[in-house]
Amino acid sequence: MIPSEPPRQPQTGFLFFPPYRIQGYSIAGEETCIQVPELDVCFDVGRCPRLALTSPFIALSHGHMDHAAGLSYYFSQRHFQGMGVGTVICHRSLEQPIHRLMEAWVDIEAQRTPYKVRSMVNGDELEIKNHIFLRAFDTDHTVPSLGYGIVEKRSKLRPEFAGLPQEKLLEIKQGGTEITYVMEVPLVAYMGDTSPGRHFRREDVRKAKILICECTFTEPDHKDRARVGKHLHLDHLVTLLDEVECENVVLVHLSRRTHMGQARKQIDETIPEEHRHRVHVLMDGRTNRARYQQQVERAEAEEAKS
Ligand SMILES: [Zn+2]
Ligand SMILES: [Zn+2]
Repeated sequence: MIPSEPPRQPQTGFLFFPPYRIQGYSIAGEETCIQVPELDVCFDVGRCPRLALTSPFIALSHGHMDHAAGLSYYFSQRHFQGMGVGTVICHRSLEQPIHRLMEAWVDIEAQRTPYKVRSMVNGDELEIKNHIFLRAFDTDHTVPSLGYGIVEKRSKLRPEFAGLPQEKLLEIKQGGTEITYVMEVPLVAYMGDTSPGRHFRREDVRKAKILICECTFTEPDHKDRARVGKHLHLDHLVTLLDEVECENVVLVHLSRRTHMGQARKQIDETIPEEHRHRVHVLMDGRTNRARYQQQVERAEAEEAKS
């Protein structure tokens, strides 16, 4: 008798919302690691897939193993492959444990891996790229947890000065008057593991172009489990979609127990039709591949025309 082949690795989830790619893995309790390459950040690092290494920042939502276990490997591989020192952004309560974790590796490996920790509390922010800021906010899970909003800050001329010639503007500016203001454009929000709550009503979440949101449970009889584990249930999404303006909502952290075909069916039945085009499931490879194929064909057709 010939033994059967080992199980295959799950396909990398992939969605393209120009100009941003959302890619990685996310299965509740097993592994969540979601990268936005264009923004230099990876949300969580449950295990450390190769793609995560190209992000100089890991933004940890909380310390559960399925979100954080790949951290030391990430630091180590970044260093080993000469990619520079990786930085983890995390809740303040995790800062010391992460130092202890990395110290333990010094004993285990008999060598020191360089790493950086930037701990945050509600409202803290960090410039991760030119004019692009990552901001932490409290969410509500069974352990201290953060969500993140990424916003672009654009300097805009105050409307009362519009149309004035350059030299006039310079003169006003030199006279000590502020001629610009900062406009915030919310780009991406990541909620991590969380119950529903007012963190979904923040500007940088509600108006983000892309909202990456957990949806651990989809079955009608799993509402209690969602409440106890402080997770979202598909039913919460229905209310949420009325509240948020996000062009695209990416559902992650679905339970492995739910077959993708089954989840897809429940989502299609539960989400009102007017919202359905905004809702995507990161790990729904079949639907996402078809969507990407269409994007490629459309781009090729555009190119052929020009
Ligand atoms: Zn989780
Ligand atoms: Zn969790």
